Amino acid sequence: MIQLVRGFKDILPGEIELWQYIEDVMRGICEDFGFSQIRTPILERTELFSRGIGATTDIVEKEMYTFADLKNASLSMRPEATASVVRAYIEHKMYARNPVQKLYSMGPMFRRERPQKGRYRQFYQINAEVFGLHSPKIDAELILILMTLMDKLSFSDIILNVNSLGCEKCRPAFKEKLQTYLNERIETLCPDCRRRSAINPLRVFDCKVSSCQESLEGAPTIVDLLCEECQNHFSAVLDFLDRFQIPYQLNPRLVRGLDYYTRTAFEVLASRLGAQNAVAGGGRYDGLVKALGGPAQPGVGFAIGLDRLASLLSDRAPGFVKRPNVFIAALGSRAQDRAFVWLQTLRFEGIRTEMDVEDRSLKSQMRQADKSGASYVLIVGERELEEGVAVWRDMSTKEQKTVPLEEVVTFVKKNVAGSASD
Ligand code: AMP
Repeated sequence: MIQLVRGFKDILPGEIELWQYIEDVMRGICEDFGFSQIRTPILERTELFSRGIGATTDIVEKEMYTFADLKNASLSMRPEATASVVRAYIEHKMYARNPVQKLYSMGPMFRRERPQKGRYRQFYQINAEVFGLHSPKIDAELILILMTLMDKLSFSDIILNVNSLGCEKCRPAFKEKLQTYLNERIETLCPDCRRRSAINPLRVFDCKVSSCQESLEGAPTIVDLLCEECQNHFSAVLDFLDRFQIPYQLNPRLVRGLDYYTRTAFEVLASRLGAQNAVAGGGRYDGLVKALGGPAQPGVGFAIGLDRLASLLSDRAPGFVKRPNVFIAALGSRAQDRAFVWLQTLRFEGIRTEMDVEDRSLKSQMRQADKSGASYVLIVGERELEEGVAVWRDMSTKEQKTVPLEEVVTFVKKNVAGSASD
């Protein structure tokens, strides 16, 4: 048997309904907040990610699925969505029509990380990006959208972490201070961090090696070194979070694993998830559009991990599976043929209907009806056809009544009305 590739998975019926529910809730929220959907391809030029995400990030250095296509152009499977959405914003000159664009997307991402619980090599994200707005109101609005989703999904044990990463004006001073701090402890850092501390010291914060994390205790924090504009921006974001009554924790260590962030950075954590506890993350990236060859337009966005959200809700998954309203148990070929036409007619009427077309025994068909979770069973056999009736059984009350054959469709419609759309 040929098996799945490690780190990849199937999402099967029974689970998928929950995924669809989460996607539907998110689609509804995004549309209420004025976002339009965008779909970008899975394959992009590698350069988009190395320039966008940063050449010295874990994602670009170690985790991308990259290959040379026939003409030797290096292509990569997208490890995240923002760089692609920015590319589309620039390539289609979306900014020329209106620099302000609010876009959301959903789809698979690929990172060659070490697979473990909650960490896959193909995983799914819901992303939202806003271009063209500097105001801290938008940072707060994006966090509000995220928290609205969490609320609608009835999550309670989650924590919102926020930080500011400063801007090109105030970050260099912080980097320098951090570099000095790291240099004093260079022998305690892993080889990757030793190398990175010289070129991109912020990345040491993402390192998963425990000795590196320990070395960071007491490291300088950027919030103490923010310039006045960044400080004002950050306080305004926090002020709006207070007004929306969104609880948060300030986390001066939160840097996010991508180079493009400026100012606000945030992450939503769920303690129930264990080691891989980040459900969503995002922030502002005011320099990215320009860095990728577009106009100097600011951006801010987030990514939600759908796999992790679904695993948090997995005990509720059976509740999202749609059951038939009616199961038709038909015995004998004449009854089977008549029932098969009812089956299709009722489906056209929006009534979820199933039947066993293999003409198994009544006992077997009743077992199937029971297993399907249908609310009603319509029973018809040779004897019923002779008598010109079918039997209607309510599966919850076990009550039965007879229905004239020619009235079956109208009767079922009347009796299942209201449940057809649930
Ligand atoms: P990031 O931009 O890396 O913080 O990713 C955003 C969100 O995507 C995270 O908060 C996770 O929920 C999810 N995520 C990232 N990497 C993985 C992965 N390898 N497997 C499953 N979910 C992931």
